[in-house]
Amino acid sequence: MTDTYSQFVNSPLGKQVASRLGIPRPVRLRRYTPGGALLEGSVLLGGYGDAPLAKRVRAVLDAEGIATATEPPTDGRVAAVVADLSAMTGPADLEALRALVGPALKRLAPSGRVLVLGASPEQAGADPVLAAARRALEGVVRSIGKELRAGATANLVLVEDGGEEEIESTVRFFLSGRSAYVDGQVVTVGPAGAGRRTPQSWVAPLAGKVAVVTGAARGIGASIADTLTRDGATVVCLDVPAAGDALAVVANRNGGSALQLDVTSPDAGARIVEHARTRHGSLDVVVHNAGITRDKLLANTDAARWQQVLDVNLLSVLRMNEAILAPGALSDGGHVVVLSSMSGIAGNRGQSNYAASKAGLIGAVHALGRDEDLRARGITVNAVAPGFIETEMTGRIPLATREMGRRINSLAQGGLPVDVAETIAWFAQDASAGVTGQVVRVCGQSMLGA
Ligand code: NAD
Repeated sequence: MTDTYSQFVNSPLGKQVASRLGIPRPVRLRRYTPGGALLEGSVLLGGYGDAPLAKRVRAVLDAEGIATATEPPTDGRVAAVVADLSAMTGPADLEALRALVGPALKRLAPSGRVLVLGASPEQAGADPVLAAARRALEGVVRSIGKELRAGATANLVLVEDGGEEEIESTVRFFLSGRSAYVDGQVVTVGPAGAGRRTPQSWVAPLAGKVAVVTGAARGIGASIADTLTRDGATVVCLDVPAAGDALAVVANRNGGSALQLDVTSPDAGARIVEHARTRHGSLDVVVHNAGITRDKLLANTDAARWQQVLDVNLLSVLRMNEAILAPGALSDGGHVVVLSSMSGIAGNRGQSNYAASKAGLIGAVHALGRDEDLRARGITVNAVAPGFIETEMTGRIPLATREMGRRINSLAQGGLPVDVAETIAWFAQDASAGVTGQVVRVCGQSMLGA
């Protein structure tokens, strides 16, 4: 546990105080370790009708040697509950979800998982009954997330027609410790464009890939570089020349290369492509992580602060993408991930420039996710929107505000840079080729903008 409050309420004295006062007691979250079990314990698996997606999940669990049951246990714990509601035809069928998941929640292990699979409401056509049933899942899952305790999470995966064969990497992500701080999220999985490949190993799903991470000298960017390297990629670590020493440390410890470059340079995209392809032979993954804040109330902000933030956080990304997404630059089947922010979803006092840039990125990701040419090339473009992450940046926030930021989420704690990095690593897998145009919050189900 990283913060003092969490350490205290998990000490013997603090536990007593917390239970007497009824104050939240954040637990240490289950996080991923390479080679570790996908889940520690059995999985309750069921759903509505013939639950076709549950069969696919069972195959994954069987391969991992994880026991499954179709009835909630009368004693002991389950590590996860997976409910497939994709065959629902109307809201009455939601009873199958209540009957399966409700009784099991009391049996869910610490850091357990509730994973609901459904069909896409967007594909319900003009049928309001079907669309209502499908959309209802979102309300249920977000509520479950808020009811769960002890580090457990609830998430919803909506599967489009033709996306049924693409769910494995997403199911693995949500069941595993990789998604420790991802809670109350809805992700759509569709058909893959060209390029899906099941990795030879789920421990090194990025083996043979070349990834570029901007803003890699410290904070979340350094953690992304570490995590992509751990998963098998060769990483080009990019940051401004002024951060050169720290950048070299990150690049060296990961056996990657360092690229000193300001992302606002007009030729930044071309230089990224050139460096990756000439030094490492290809460019397969780009993570646009570099970002800045210049906070002021809008009434007090000036053109320079406004422009700087939009330049670094948004305009540079749009410009770099023109070069990166041009034919022959990023490999077919490649992946682009951008760092948005909860500010871009909820807005934040004093951050109108920052929120504009981060909301703008979401707009761009949605547009690129719909781009038929990119889909045909199997290129995915997604965003992560971190909430309160424990970094140097958030460490400088005044204590009272910092404590608020940490606690107002379902997990009652801040996330770690690695939580953001794990989500990016899932987007970056070829096996996630059916996941594009998505925005996933890594925020512990923050109440802000929920
Ligand atoms: P940080 O300030 O610790 O690191 C940002 C890095 O980007 C630095 O190394 C910096 O040198 C680099 N950078 C800045 N301008 C650059 C430029 N023009 N060219 C190249 N590199 C440049 O920030 P962080 O907390 O690690 O955040 C990383 C990303 O995550 C940012 O996009 C940020 O907006 C986003 N984010 C962070 C949080 C959080 O809680 N920390 C929350 C939401 C979103």
